[in-house]
Amino acid sequence: MLKGFFRKHGWNYIPGAILLILSTWLHTRSPIALGNAIELFAGSDYAAFAREAWRILWIALGVFVTRLSWRYFIIGTSREMEIYLRDKLFSHLEYLPIRFYGENRSGDLMAYAVNDVGAVRMTFGMVMAQSLSALTNIGFSVGEMAAGVHPSLTLFALLPVPVAIFFIIYIGRSVQTKFKTVQESFSNISGHVQENINGMRVLKAFAMEKQQYESYQAESDGMRKANLRLSYTSAMLSPVIQVLFGLCYAVGLVYGGRLVIEGEIGLGDYVAFNSYLTMIVQPVMSIGRIVNMLQRGLASYKRMAALMKEEETPVFDRTDDGRTIEGTIEAKNLSFTYPDGDREALKDVSFSIPKGGTLGIAGKTGSGKSTLFLLLTKLLPAQEGQLFIDGQDITSVPAASLRRAIGYVPQDGFLFNTTIEDNIAFFTGATHAEVECAACEAGLEKDLAIMPDGFNTVAGERGNHLSGGQRQRVALARAFVRNPSILLLDDTLSAVDTRTENRILENLRGELEGRTAVIISHRLSALKEADEILFMENGRVAERGTHEALLALGGRYAAMWTQQTEAEDEE
Ligand code: ADP
Ligand code: MG
Repeated sequence: MLKGFFRKHGWNYIPGAILLILSTWLHTRSPIALGNAIELFAGSDYAAFAREAWRILWIALGVFVTRLSWRYFIIGTSREMEIYLRDKLFSHLEYLPIRFYGENRSGDLMAYAVNDVGAVRMTFGMVMAQSLSALTNIGFSVGEMAAGVHPSLTLFALLPVPVAIFFIIYIGRSVQTKFKTVQESFSNISGHVQENINGMRVLKAFAMEKQQYESYQAESDGMRKANLRLSYTSAMLSPVIQVLFGLCYAVGLVYGGRLVIEGEIGLGDYVAFNSYLTMIVQPVMSIGRIVNMLQRGLASYKRMAALMKEEETPVFDRTDDGRTIEGTIEAKNLSFTYPDGDREALKDVSFSIPKGGTLGIAGKTGSGKSTLFLLLTKLLPAQEGQLFIDGQDITSVPAASLRRAIGYVPQDGFLFNTTIEDNIAFFTGATHAEVECAACEAGLEKDLAIMPDGFNTVAGERGNHLSGGQRQRVALARAFVRNPSILLLDDTLSAVDTRTENRILENLRGELEGRTAVIISHRLSALKEADEILFMENGRVAERGTHEALLALGGRYAAMWTQQTEAEDEE
């Protein structure tokens, strides 16, 4: 997943690591200089003392410069990595088949894009730097203490440190499991809030505010308890470490003090020793956090790697080979079963539409109508030998070429949170006049006239500033503006009143001129003019023929027609 990145930017870690080691080395020079200065001061050698004081200043400056530089190389590179990962993830998500989005929760995918990328970035930046810094710092300090001051003093004074490390890792692990619980309750709470905000209309309409508030409070209380448990455990760590390092200092004080009195070590050495002891408290304390963050980074990395392994749609399907699609469609015993479906959503459906022809499809919900459209747009894979476009098997027509020729209006008419104009033009580069024309054909002109900003009205999230019927008609205009050879309308006028529907159907007749169209509709009046109508039932074609033929047949279509026309007369 990161191979390409390391090939390009990985070298940055080398100067980063060298500078970091140099920086800690310099940093661990100052206690010696301090010890020397004290010895010289005690020996009243003021000129040499001043030189030593200068040296301390230069060391500080050196530490400052090297620290700044390693941060530039390591942290800077990890930020590059974050961008790289995010780009890669997004483009990967764009090219995954829609099947993938049926199987994964959008919340989880958002978490991947935000948290996991961040955790991986931290691992290859701050965490890596901190572990290297902690290791070298402890190494250099202990080395100086043992070699420069006194080996057995060092040994005895540091005896409590392994115990401290044991506690840090032990308590750290317990903190981690408790932290997980806190995070889970946090994600429950945010899920609860999100769902409440999205479904506020329904909640209010059913007067569920109080009930929702109470269940929220229960979750909130759970989070409070989890947080308290976490605090108790993590609060234990600091006192334990302090006591253990207190022991180190005590040994240093008693044993080291005796060595000074006996003249084994100088006063300066003694001061330096204590400075080193202070110096390693921080790195030792950070071990727990580093281990924890490494584990989290690793988990995130694994999750992302698994996601990146998901197969993208083949390149063949994404490459438009520039062919012209005339628009004849033929299905031969077309059948389809969803991967997790228990029965066939489509079964032995056959039809043939010449260029410019219109096929109407009616049938109850769940009879397989929308599935047919997903197959025609290659959003679902049809089996070889069942579906043909311009006489060619659809499996050998690149999806990109096919979709360029298709104007698809899905059932839910999803809009993007931008202006109506942009929603209609939809990256086709259509001029305003073209957008206006498409909007007019889709029967939007009256709605636009009463909207305060007309074409510049913003549709809102998922288009929720518009009514269902308006959304459908914007989606219809979006299909018209592409000037497609094939129009696929999935119950596009379900939320439109009869009068508007008739007007749009009137316009549609013009739009359908020379185009192949498949129209799904609950309202049979929209299908009347079609060359052939299929009446679907449980994925099969139950009845078929022209409107007149189906009426004459006197079957289900005819019954539905009578029912609908009577209802209309009552209106
Ligand atoms: P229609 O558009 O006629 O209402 P659909 O084509 O949407 O019907 O659905 C046909 C059948 O396929 C239904 O039984 C439905 O439950 C099933 N189905 C639809 N989408 C999926 C899916 N993503 N996974 C599994 N089954 C599905
Ligand atoms: Mg449907």
